Amino acid sequence: SVPLSFFGGIGGASKAGILVKGSNYLEALAQTELVVFDKTGTLTQGVFDVQEIYAKDITKEELLALTAYAESYSNHPISLSLKRAYGKEIDKNRLSNVEEISGLGIIASVDGKVVAAGNSKLMTRLNISYSEDVAIGTVVHVAVDNSYAGYIVISDKVKPDAALAIQTLKAAHVKQTVMLTGDSKSVGEKVAKELQMDQVYTELLPGDKVDKLEELFTQKSAKGKLAFVGDGINDAPVLARADIGVAMGGLGSDAAIEAADVVIMTDEPSKLGTAIKISKKTLGIVR
Ligand code: ADP
Ligand code: MG
Repeated sequence: SVPLSFFGGIGGASKAGILVKGSNYLEALAQTELVVFDKTGTLTQGVFDVQEIYAKDITKEELLALTAYAESYSNHPISLSLKRAYGKEIDKNRLSNVEEISGLGIIASVDGKVVAAGNSKLMTRLNISYSEDVAIGTVVHVAVDNSYAGYIVISDKVKPDAALAIQTLKAAHVKQTVMLTGDSKSVGEKVAKELQMDQVYTELLPGDKVDKLEELFTQKSAKGKLAFVGDGINDAPVLARADIGVAMGGLGSDAAIEAADVVIMTDEPSKLGTAIKISKKTLGIVR
């Protein structure tokens, strides 16, 4: 049977904006040793601004328009940001054959032209040579009808609460904080360093994230728990595999909120540290 004080713990967490879906997760939270974070939309806002456009053989306006069209069906933070940057209405009649390749980008027909927009891995897969990533932002390369058409550099901001999130975990005696991201080495490492995280792994495809999580499981003690915090976009399998899957309720997808063990109901990742503190206090009272 569940000790009565556990209900108090779950209630206390709920008042603090954290939904804990069962007393077993409250217990697990108190044993958290590793916390693994997704970057985009979890530690960063997931709202990208356009920094630079380089267009080859077409205008910058055309490049942005074609990209926004290709991205228009997706809810990926990059897609939403590019649609916002384009700013005009999208006529879906001009669009067909949309294919999103998770962790790589999008391929779609716009006015009968095949537009591919995504990272360098997508270009490599399509056998298109591209300008090397030199920018200090996330680079979206674009190809039109199998020819390189240029790139759009976009950049995201770290959430105001993200540094506190890492500090709160350290204060709650979590041993390691880790970032997993599909984004580039330069962007991922910059954010991890700024937040003083212990480990960072970049350029991971969704499947690579699961493999990396398996590796991280070997870094904890037998009774220690591993929590993963994500927004559910390209990280649902990792969220499911973690001992404690934590979804960000603010920006997170409905499927992620449904599948998660713990839901942070605000846009503040530091609530995880708060939840761990509450769980430890609750278990302390029980003992
Ligand atoms: P993260 O791990 O940061 O949450 P994702 O796994 O969702 O990122 O995506 C990894 C990378 O794949 C992105 O940084 C981007 O380069 C590329 N990518 C994914 N989806 C898209 C998209 N819809 N449009 C363009 N690029 C994309
Ligand atoms: Mg993500």
